Amino acid sequence: MNYISTRGFTGKNNKSFSEVTMEGLASDGGLYVPENIPKFSKLELDQMSSLSYVELCTKIILKYTDEIFTESDIKDIAIDSYKNFNSGDIAPLIEIEENKYILELFHGPTLAFKDFALQFLSRVFNLILEKNNKRITIIGATSGDTGSAAIEAFKNNKKASIFILHPKGKVSDFQRKQMTTVHSENVYNIAIEGNFDDCQTLVKKLFMDNNFKTKYNLASVNSINWCRVLAQVVYYFYSTFKIKNNKDLVNFSVPTGNFGDAYAGYIAKKMGLPINKIIIATNSNDILARFFSSGEYKVSKVISTLSPSMDIQVASNFERLLFESLNNDADLVNKNMDDLQKNGFFKLSDDILKSLNNTFIGISINDHSTLKCMNYFYKKFGIIVDPHTAVGLQASYINSNLQEPIITLATAHADKFSQSVEKAIGKKMNTLSNYNNIFEREEKFKDLNNNLDILKNYISENLKYQFV
Ligand SMILES: *Cc1c(COP(=O)(O)O)cnc(C)c1O
Repeated sequence: MNYISTRGFTGKNNKSFSEVTMEGLASDGGLYVPENIPKFSKLELDQMSSLSYVELCTKIILKYTDEIFTESDIKDIAIDSYKNFNSGDIAPLIEIEENKYILELFHGPTLAFKDFALQFLSRVFNLILEKNNKRITIIGATSGDTGSAAIEAFKNNKKASIFILHPKGKVSDFQRKQMTTVHSENVYNIAIEGNFDDCQTLVKKLFMDNNFKTKYNLASVNSINWCRVLAQVVYYFYSTFKIKNNKDLVNFSVPTGNFGDAYAGYIAKKMGLPINKIIIATNSNDILARFFSSGEYKVSKVISTLSPSMDIQVASNFERLLFESLNNDADLVNKNMDDLQKNGFFKLSDDILKSLNNTFIGISINDHSTLKCMNYFYKKFGIIVDPHTAVGLQASYINSNLQEPIITLATAHADKFSQSVEKAIGKKMNTLSNYNNIFEREEKFKDLNNNLDILKNYISENLKYQFV
């Protein structure tokens, strides 16, 4: 498979899977997308419907890789990535009531769905680096869950050092401790004075500095990395196939921040999976919900909510959908992104919006409704959900005119957000508070101002390796 950049690319015309995985963001600031999306036939889909998670993963991912990867490489990576998921099933699908399902994606080592992508990504990195005899420096920004999932995935990786930026004081205690109590030599946590978008902007700037990027062989683990999106495509297939006797369409409700997870669902649809609607469920940071009802993509201020992993305004992965909506015209993408930078918004035509609404419905759920939803599910079904999942669930119930089954993605374990859960259900939870003893372990992180040069110095001072 060849890959192109959403901003048009200056150098070579296309890139391989290994190259785009290692680079993350393209050098022109764009995101990599495959040149085309392979489509399964009805017959192939039928045959795939009884595969195990690992087999399905292998079959789907193999369509997008390059000659470095054999089928057995992918299979070994998939087996190893998901062996530590502490459930009999890697991704259990729970039926709540008729036509309403929850897909539990929180059985990985850090109790959130990001483990699906990051466990996979770290092993893909490893294989590429071993074949090329190289090492890398991973830089990532996190609003909470990415950081811990990345650190957990890379902490024993001999080929990588990892620097994770989080917005100081804006992630939950549990999330912070999950990151800062990992005491591996190759792990560096940085608390930035600012919000998540500030962290993400710093990371983007580092990657656009070609000298720095080359010197330390920077790699990204943010959800802009194509390999992460790809790993997430798998559970859309897996869960759709699980709905018994499913011959018809299904809908998904996806708690959304950076639009990575929801975009993976869209790729699954383009690959032939019978998906009708994908509900884009946001919290009060509703840029995407507003976009899918008005066509206007307009930045406003980031608000702190009960679902902090979705406290995001500029949804990085959205650029991939934008590129496609504009008929792969990179000049138009550049123009819209320039407008966004200059004026704080751009607007697409009604025709484009109409066509996007064939798949996407945007709904925003505020904290009050989130808490009410958590309370309702506890009272009515005895199910305790985390605030992110509740945003998705509430959005799926608002859309009760959909006839087909709706699968809501449960993106985090309720224990990660026990304070909100207790507030919602009105009683103390029995949490996994001694999960890896993180509440007793010493924390290790560095406070830094929101400043690119200071960040660069910190990274340079701490990397003692020779990069080849
Ligand atoms: C990251 C995250 C999301 C949002 O996922 P995106 O791919 O950024 O849209 C939702 N819920 C939880 C728990 C997360 O960690």
